[in-house]
Amino acid sequence: MKKHNFSAGPCILPQEVLLKASQAVMDFNESGLSLIEISHRSPDFVAVMENARALALELLGLENKGYKALFLQGGASMEFLMVAYNLLENKAGYLNTGTWSDKAIKEAKLFGDVVEVGSSKDENFNYIPKGYAVPEGLDYLHLTSNNTIFGTQIKKFPKTDAPLVCDMSSDIFSRELDFSMFDIIYAGAQKNMGPAGATLVVIKEDVLGKVSRKIPSMMDYQVHISKDSMFNTPSVFAVYTSMLTLEWLKNLGGVAAIEETNEKKAQLLYSEIDLNPMFNGYANKEDRSNMNATFTIADERLKDTFDKLLKEAGINGLNGHRSVGGYRASMYNALPLESVGILVDVMSDIERKA
Ligand SMILES: *Cc1c(COP(=O)(O)O)cnc(C)c1O
Repeated sequence: MKKHNFSAGPCILPQEVLLKASQAVMDFNESGLSLIEISHRSPDFVAVMENARALALELLGLENKGYKALFLQGGASMEFLMVAYNLLENKAGYLNTGTWSDKAIKEAKLFGDVVEVGSSKDENFNYIPKGYAVPEGLDYLHLTSNNTIFGTQIKKFPKTDAPLVCDMSSDIFSRELDFSMFDIIYAGAQKNMGPAGATLVVIKEDVLGKVSRKIPSMMDYQVHISKDSMFNTPSVFAVYTSMLTLEWLKNLGGVAAIEETNEKKAQLLYSEIDLNPMFNGYANKEDRSNMNATFTIADERLKDTFDKLLKEAGINGLNGHRSVGGYRASMYNALPLESVGILVDVMSDIERKA
């Protein structure tokens, strides 16, 4: 039986994408060869890379606006240091909204001064800091749009003259934003786009070339741009599968259409969390993530019963991250509304049993 997959990452992908990707592993474009055994320089794969890059810009509304899309490797974690390598000359600002921002800050400190413009560490990152001042003269300001572990999401982005860099690993392509406010957006594929192994990096080209240090080729965004994201062998399977997911999203009506479904899923689950006395939401209400909903069970003695019911309902991946505990329901683009309905049924079931 196919499970209802609430895993935080790697995570659910559309069934039709999994089917097409597995077919391509056996026979790519009826070539008699597998996608993963042909040259990445072959015309068939070059077309995949170009299509994936173009779709990413199209879905973000960033075509013809001076942006380039790259599919790199090393995960979002590699971008923590590549951003600083390429942009940080003197001083950068970071908003600390949890584990991933914390890790980005740690890497940036190897390259220059870091100003933490705000932090929600005092409340174990259950809210998004607001009303903080952004100092003048920053090389860039770094934000994490969605905090996968704590279940918070930035709803309103700060106005600043500094270039804006955003880790969107867990909510890219999930909601409409004016993406042109960002100079660099990056996202590990495995949360909302594809398998692990590729990282989408979208760069406004004019933000580059301003640091005086020498940058090793593999770390240099300009090198990757000049080679059309083919400086070295790309992660062909991850790029191809990401391309399929982006096509799937485009056919659904794009980001605006999926945002509507994502809103419905989040409303359904959060209203159950709020109405059902058996559960408590973790994140501050106004900062709640539409992608990752974090909550705890009010009476720990019912945990085993709840876990058993979840299992019987075919629900997978609901355990909270160890730094928060409790439960986390990740509702990425490919998760059907129906799966959230099943989860909500189990939650009301346990209320009746209590
Ligand atoms: C998962 C995640 C990361 C880390 O991604 P890797 O690809 O494993 O390096 C970074 N930032 C956010 C917001 C994430 O959710």
